[in-house]
Amino acid sequence: MELTNVILLFGEASLYFFVMVSLLEARHKIGLGVFFCALGVMHFLETYLASVFYVALPFGVISPGSSVLFSGKLLMILLLYIKEDAAVVRQPIYGLLIGNFLIVGLVMILRNHDTLALIEGRSPNISFIDEMGWLMVWGTTLLFFDSVGIILLYERLGGLFREHPALRFLLCGLVMLTFDQLGFYLALRYVSGAPVEVLFGGWIAKMAAAVVYSVFFLIYMHASRTVPPKNEALGVSDIFHVLTYRERYEQLLESAARDHLTGVYDRGRYDIEAPRIIETNIRRSHPVSLMVIDIDRFKDINDTFGHTAGDIVLKDVAGILSTALRSGDHLFRFGGEEFVVVCERLPLDGAMSMANRLCRTIAETVRTESGSSVTVSIGVAAGPDDGQALAPLFKSADARLYRAKQEGRNRVCGRDGPYEREMTFATHPVA
Ligand code: GH3
Ligand code: MG
Ligand code: MG
Repeated sequence: MELTNVILLFGEASLYFFVMVSLLEARHKIGLGVFFCALGVMHFLETYLASVFYVALPFGVISPGSSVLFSGKLLMILLLYIKEDAAVVRQPIYGLLIGNFLIVGLVMILRNHDTLALIEGRSPNISFIDEMGWLMVWGTTLLFFDSVGIILLYERLGGLFREHPALRFLLCGLVMLTFDQLGFYLALRYVSGAPVEVLFGGWIAKMAAAVVYSVFFLIYMHASRTVPPKNEALGVSDIFHVLTYRERYEQLLESAARDHLTGVYDRGRYDIEAPRIIETNIRRSHPVSLMVIDIDRFKDINDTFGHTAGDIVLKDVAGILSTALRSGDHLFRFGGEEFVVVCERLPLDGAMSMANRLCRTIAETVRTESGSSVTVSIGVAAGPDDGQALAPLFKSADARLYRAKQEGRNRVCGRDGPYEREMTFATHPVA
């Protein structure tokens, strides 16, 4: 009997994971609402099963509602975060919380009806509804903390486990489900007098569920080639802000847009994101650098070869800039033929060598239609010395760009005067 239960539980976990992940994968075609609704409706069954439905396993008594469905839901929330971001995942987190409180509110009104026993032997069981209501409130509140906790933990573990996403996923599941099991058992004991073996049996089952789901996760990641998101720019406290609906991030995400021509982030994104990146790095006492990059004599390229050829040059330059970025570097198209790169945790000397590398690579690889090389000039500034906010940093970098132009273009200027590049290659100025 116990073995049959194990097999059935595995079947439930597989079905749950397969269906939910299919909905998640299909979100771009069918919309994320389908996934959200499916996640939401499970809550009633989870609570009902956790309250009354127990099965025996070799190590104790467990409820499939908690061990398979609830564990699955928490890990689905984490998976949604990995696939999307904090602004998306907070929608079901808040939706579940509010929806379940709404159920309890409605039940409080409903229980005052005088109901009719229309069908023989079937009348509403109010004490059961009350019991479910309490478990629902408690379970929902716990789920809220579990969800926020699992995402913050996932980010915390990033530095150590970036190369091992499945292990990171598993650890998050083990820790948060342990926390949840303790919390939920307290309520079960209080409400329905659940024996202590439910605590241990349930805990072992949740740990096993975390392992099974992590294996499924690993297979899924391989099958879908999911690259974990570049959330490095957001610290744990920033993610918490997003999860807790701090509105400036809402604004950020709405206006987050890419420039159509080059595919890099546009001026709107720059205006919202660049000040935040700089502020976060300064607050954490990290160095932060800013480069203003301007294509040399771009007007001549347009005039000589036409605007379409000019556009191709712009795309080529943007392409080189984007491939050169480390994680923590942010590229924006600032204006016509000007780009800004904001580099987190990079001091001036590092930014100078990066800028020199970019300058050289562009001069060596970008060509106009006639084969002459295209060059850029770069002004570099770094906080905190050159400024502790976007405006002063940009002002310094822009002034240095101007100097680089005056001193002959195709070069980088930083704080201590021009750092002229070694001219190891031939350049052919346009026109
Ligand atoms: P300098 O070396 O001093 O920077 O000279 P420049 O010719 O690059 O400077 P200027 O700022 O006068 O020229 C920028 C030109 O970029 C003018 C504008 O027509 C052109 N431009 C701006 N946006 C686009 C675009 O999206 N596509 C194309 N093809 N040209 C653009
Ligand atoms: Mg310009
Ligand atoms: Mg220019």
